[in-house]
Amino acid sequence: MKISVCPGSFDPVTYGHIDIIQRASEIFDHVYVAVLQNRGKTACFTTSERLEMLKDCVKHLTNVSVESFDGLVVDYAREKGALAIVRGLRAVTDFEYEFKLAAMNRNLAPEIETVFMMTSSQYSFLSSSAVKEVASFGGDVSQWVAPAVAERLYAKYKIARKG
Ligand code: ADP
Repeated sequence: MKISVCPGSFDPVTYGHIDIIQRASEIFDHVYVAVLQNRGKTACFTTSERLEMLKDCVKHLTNVSVESFDGLVVDYAREKGALAIVRGLRAVTDFEYEFKLAAMNRNLAPEIETVFMMTSSQYSFLSSSAVKEVASFGGDVSQWVAPAVAERLYAKYKIARKG
């Protein structure tokens, strides 16, 4: 059984994330999406909110599970018996950070491969932080996140939208 782990903050989940998870689910027998808690970043949504939104967005993918994890991704991957960590790449700017992270993880766990998937072109500029910024000003985020996620964003920023 080929297992992979898709780790991230998912604060909140976007269609860019779902695209990567879906594509990973077509390659691997099982995909564990890991919502990481111990990030330097201050999260907009709590871990349980992020988990709920993600679970809802991937419920159509039968070989995908969503869990939260507090610790090193390589430890989580080992615990799950994963052979790979899947990460998405948007632009050259992602590369340096991902390159360092993959090198670090390879040192920690040489048996686990990091697999990069190129973003689908329509999501190449999409990030959770950009979505949060647009939503905080009441802008339309419907092309980037699921309706339930958009609702939660507007509620978080106390934005009342018509329709
Ligand atoms: P992190 O804080 O670990 O970067 P994110 O939630 O921002 O977590 O992202 C999780 C993963 O999803 C990362 O591999 C990131 O590169 C990828 N990702 C995020 N947005 C997109 C997108 N629009 N297209 C492709 N991959 C993406």
